[in-house]
Amino acid sequence: MPEFRQNLATKDWVILATERGKRPSDFEKERKQREPAPAYDTNCPFCKGNESQTLEPTYVWPAPDDWKVRVIPNKFAALDPNLSTTRSHVGLFLAAKGFGLAEVVVEHPEHNVNIVSMELEQVTQMLRACRERQAAISQNPKINLVQIFRNYGQGAGTSLIHPHSQIIATPIVPPHVRFPMEQAVLYYDKYGSCVYCDLVREELRQAERVIIESENFVAFCPYAARSPYECRIYPKRHEPSFVLVDDEELYELASVLRDLLGRVHTGLNDPDYNYIIRSSPIGDENTRHLHWYIVVIPKISIPAGFEIGTGIYINTVAPEASARHLRDVTVG
Ligand SMILES: [Zn+2]
Ligand SMILES: [Zn+2]
Repeated sequence: MPEFRQNLATKDWVILATERGKRPSDFEKERKQREPAPAYDTNCPFCKGNESQTLEPTYVWPAPDDWKVRVIPNKFAALDPNLSTTRSHVGLFLAAKGFGLAEVVVEHPEHNVNIVSMELEQVTQMLRACRERQAAISQNPKINLVQIFRNYGQGAGTSLIHPHSQIIATPIVPPHVRFPMEQAVLYYDKYGSCVYCDLVREELRQAERVIIESENFVAFCPYAARSPYECRIYPKRHEPSFVLVDDEELYELASVLRDLLGRVHTGLNDPDYNYIIRSSPIGDENTRHLHWYIVVIPKISIPAGFEIGTGIYINTVAPEASARHLRDVTVG
């Protein structure tokens, strides 16, 4: 029987229609294997030894000549750091110059690894690079939002296979980010608590969608998941911004993230995916109503006409079944 479910935080609706869906094993069969890649590629700008193909790094760890993580300005950025943020009108329509920052986090010197096959220390350092860059970029008075994300595989929008994440920082906080914030303020005013803290507590209480729980983090498929196997990692403690994660938590987060992606990799036969770190806009790092998290979206279904038309996603795999499937995966 199909069912509507509402996202407690954003008020978005989804339709669970599991009869329409295929069983998890069908997805596994349909997936094509990825082409094997070499450890080094002469033409890859991110490979160790090819540093001259990139712009000057904004961050390197541990040392420029023997780096393990490197952050560089994106040569093909969608936005330009040398413009103003002034708004202007074209008749009735509003515009602004395309000011913004775009950087690439090169997660490993080698070409053919992914997060699942990386050492835990490497994943930790990759997350630390993201945190440090978010903190540094946040000092720029013209920037209001720092978005960190990872596109894995062609179907998720990446153009290079070398392991990397991206950072795009904008002067604009769009309605897509603002609207859930406004809902969170209303919830806070009504109930006197952070909606995300309450949501995490409720997911832990209901337990059936939880995949991994550590001391400070929990990974689950949310009650109103928009797509099959959508997962989220939340800090259990109230924490509005990713920049507030301390070094000890970073190591624990790296472990939960690698474990979760390992389950997605093995349990769903290495699908393309996006993950996004949703963090408070700049200046809202200490609010009581916002709470950062990571959302992982395996690219298994494609939003179609109904989703585009209504914003209501039809999810053909119940998040309870998604969580069970990912929980049952044996990660080596
Ligand atoms: Zn490479
Ligand atoms: Zn909270």
